[in-house]
Amino acid sequence: MSGARVVALVLVAAVAAGCTGGADPTPPAATGSRDGCCATSSTSGPAPVVEKPLAGKVVVLDPGHQLGNRHHGSEIARPVDAGGFDKECNTTGAATNAGYPEATFTWKVAVAARRILRRLGARVVLTRASNSDDLWGPCVDVRGSIGNPGEPGRTADLRVSIHADGVAVDGARGFHVIRPGVLDGWTDDIAKPSRKLAVDVRDALEAAGFPASSYQGRNGIDVRTDLGTLNHSDIPTVMVELANMRDPRDAALVESAQGRNRYARALAQAIRKYLAR
Ligand SMILES: [Zn+2]
Repeated sequence: MSGARVVALVLVAAVAAGCTGGADPTPPAATGSRDGCCATSSTSGPAPVVEKPLAGKVVVLDPGHQLGNRHHGSEIARPVDAGGFDKECNTTGAATNAGYPEATFTWKVAVAARRILRRLGARVVLTRASNSDDLWGPCVDVRGSIGNPGEPGRTADLRVSIHADGVAVDGARGFHVIRPGVLDGWTDDIAKPSRKLAVDVRDALEAAGFPASSYQGRNGIDVRTDLGTLNHSDIPTVMVELANMRDPRDAALVESAQGRNRYARALAQAIRKYLAR
């Protein structure tokens, strides 16, 4: 086995193990580890070739809400088609008791997950370009359509919509993954693969040490047919409520960079596993 091959495998193993101390899993220099977390051997051979297990794959990440939605009440209240029925374009989202907004949490997790997935070779499309307090939307029908066959841009292999809940009930904490139920003419074609994706996301979050929801769904998975973001999808999709922001233990994870990076790594692991099939 060549030195380059050894280094490449070490890098892949390091990413798989989340051995990055919560930081961007930048490949360490060939002469040693960047942060001391992952041992690498010295080599004077050619530059290491990092394996790209997700090369050619396209992933859509949908960071829920938008920070500026709070200033655009009338715009986001505008009804849009959510799957054969009308629903509001978007909402302001939840917040922790300290006021940390869901839109910021979902944005940061999505950006961190994008970084990991790109290093694995995937092309990643986000459904919004920033977390600006000056912007609003996009609406749920647009979020649920990006990456669909026939839409502008490359057709994606899957879409994960990232959210966090805001339930003010003592003891209610943990994540739940929402998969689309069968809605004839809308999700009947994607319900089955989306179920597999939901299991992969649930399993990865549990493996990363996050508790499944104590208040919603069953074993960390819920099924819904009332969500425009899911109903508009023509590719396998799930929405994940990563935490209950009103729970103090979940809020501590949401408000910390380390917690957000843990969520991001778990999502990237799940996506990698699903796309490996
Ligand atoms: Zn949300």
